Amino acid sequence: MKKINMVDLKSQYLNIKEEIDTAIHETIDSMAFINGKQVKEFQAELEKYLNVKHVIPCANGTDALQVALMALDLEPGDEIISPNFTFIATVEVIALLGLKPVLVDVDPNTFTIDINCLEKAITKKTKAIVPVHLYGQCADMESIMNIAKKHNLFVIEDTAQASGTKYTFDNGVTKHAGTIGHIGCTSFFPSKNLACFGDGGAIFTNDDNLAEKQRAIVNHGTKIKYIHESIGINSRLDSIQAAILRVKLRYLNLYNKSRQKAADFYNNAFKAYEKITVPATNPKSTHIYHQYTLKLNNIDRTKFQEYLKFKGIPSMVYYPIPMHLQKAFYDDKYKQGSFPVSENLCSIVLSLPMHTELDNEQLEYITNTIINYIKK
Ligand SMILES: *Cc1c(COP(=O)(O)O)cnc(C)c1O
Repeated sequence: MKKINMVDLKSQYLNIKEEIDTAIHETIDSMAFINGKQVKEFQAELEKYLNVKHVIPCANGTDALQVALMALDLEPGDEIISPNFTFIATVEVIALLGLKPVLVDVDPNTFTIDINCLEKAITKKTKAIVPVHLYGQCADMESIMNIAKKHNLFVIEDTAQASGTKYTFDNGVTKHAGTIGHIGCTSFFPSKNLACFGDGGAIFTNDDNLAEKQRAIVNHGTKIKYIHESIGINSRLDSIQAAILRVKLRYLNLYNKSRQKAADFYNNAFKAYEKITVPATNPKSTHIYHQYTLKLNNIDRTKFQEYLKFKGIPSMVYYPIPMHLQKAFYDDKYKQGSFPVSENLCSIVLSLPMHTELDNEQLEYITNTIINYIKK
């Protein structure tokens, strides 16, 4: 059996090595390392794939979130609502810009922002909501868009874990994750579903005005060379990464299907066992399983992880500490017990190996090993 990895980037690369190597060498030959043809073509191809008017490539997913917030003309102290159970970048950029992160608990089944808690957290100072499509399925975007409309709020989707996920509204309209709110922000970090060989990110919007502003912000606040209308940053996707992404975008649907197949295998194997709860999916969203995350019921997670490691099966905890208990976001309003669902999830979630190259032999070994342990 092939060695089991959490993510197997090497095997994935070897399957498309020729295409990737050619793309990289062509870019080197062109010497257009910054804003070259590859970046423009990737942008156009991603716009077409997502059916969105504007894709603005940038240096990473964290920058994408920061640029999105910078484009909204917010004032210091304006409140931005984000889920409490997420990767730090979502909340970090809010605080970094002098805005106030307002944390909200998540749904215990889908792990995405809890709609009731969200509506209760809105005040006169609230300006935007940043839902996170955690692990690869969309947050409840129908409700979020309705709440945003009612309270006149911006919606910035953190879609770093949901490249290729689709969401269908009650009226039958289907949209790609990241193209539903006013702005979508993604990451092409090597382990994401659409990923490059380094850092990369992008911003999506259908709003011409926001797109123009964001294009200026990622380029030092410039629309015309050496004329700076506003303070921006330097955040670029480089041409070599764009060339790699052009190749991988062609495989994205196939890659997401392989992940779904692996998830189906896990789900079928585990569904009869009460000690583990398989991931729940919102029927309106597809799930592309950036992570396959179980909830453990009355299992000592540390001991379980040690056993898996001994058997050659890696596992990870995304995420061990909720945002309100991170020292970086200390706020005397928040304490242990403030967000019971996220606090509980942090202590019971466990992510299993999930990538595009898992084969049946590996999946059988992983599931049998786990079942043997929980049956005891
Ligand atoms: C990866 C990730 C980010 C940040 O992306 P980087 O490219 O690493 O800056 C933001 N939010 C979520 C939910 C992520 O998973």
